[in-house]
Amino acid sequence: MKIADLHLHTNFSDGTFTPEELVLNAQNKGLACIALTDHDTVEGCARAAAAAAAVQMEFIPGSELTAEYDDTEVHILGYFLDTQNRTLLDEIAKFQTVRQQRIHEMVARINELGVPLQVADVFALANCKSPGRPHVARTLVKGGYVRNLDEAFERFLKKGRPAWVPKSKMSAREAVELIHQAGGLAVIAHPGLNRTDEIIPGLVAAGMDGIECFHTKHSTQMAERYLEIADKFNLLVTGGSDCHGFSKAKPLIGTVKLPYDHVERMKAKISARKIAGN
Ligand code: AMP
Ligand code: ZN
Ligand code: FE
Ligand code: FE
Repeated sequence: MKIADLHLHTNFSDGTFTPEELVLNAQNKGLACIALTDHDTVEGCARAAAAAAAVQMEFIPGSELTAEYDDTEVHILGYFLDTQNRTLLDEIAKFQTVRQQRIHEMVARINELGVPLQVADVFALANCKSPGRPHVARTLVKGGYVRNLDEAFERFLKKGRPAWVPKSKMSAREAVELIHQAGGLAVIAHPGLNRTDEIIPGLVAAGMDGIECFHTKHSTQMAERYLEIADKFNLLVTGGSDCHGFSKAKPLIGTVKLPYDHVERMKAKISARKIAGN
């Protein structure tokens, strides 16, 4: 059976693999199709696409956009994006700028707590336009200020902890529109992570095409519940490991196995939309 993993990060956001390493790992896991979904960027997609083409693997250019609905942070996956789309690139560039400013603010707060973390060290480690809390956490570990990533999040970075700084977020509706005008499909990411099922009808009304039923942090019961929700709202079903490379433990790539027919359904929806638009 052909298998896909549609939720993957590289070092163009907070993963540790390069796009080429990601494709190599996907090949070793026997995946027929992968999507790259770095946070608020599509920058790694060109390199991943080239690496995938070289080994005849199917590649879907994507992104994981940070959005909000009713004051709840929601992640929205965009698939089959035109990565040259001007509006998309301009919009996500704004979010990247805010992410960079946020790093300065988080480090300032950590410094106020007496930990002399250097902001330049965080940017050097992140080495990308879309830095986030995992980069701060990894720099804290590297500097010997905490023992591990969990301690960094527990002491400083988790919501409610002293160095937590909110991200700027677009509304879920704006994210959907941005994805659609770039030719893509919008999918609700890991709904089970935030336990915010009550907002799903509102997200569907905002124009979502699909829901990520299969995810590393979804139990079997959760996946079944989201499959029922997908059926009820006529949503596409997606799934992925949310692999961040070696940033936490063993790479997760390939541990969530999405049967390829779901990818076929995604492509059919894109084709139908193109025909309707012509
Ligand atoms: P950010 O986008 O900067 O808010 O960072 C979010 C990322 O941090 C998520 O994608 C996770 O990869 C990671 N993350 C969130 N909470 C934790 C945690 N408690 N321990 C380790 N990583 C975390
Ligand atoms: Zn992440
Ligand atoms: Fe996410
Ligand atoms: Fe993710």
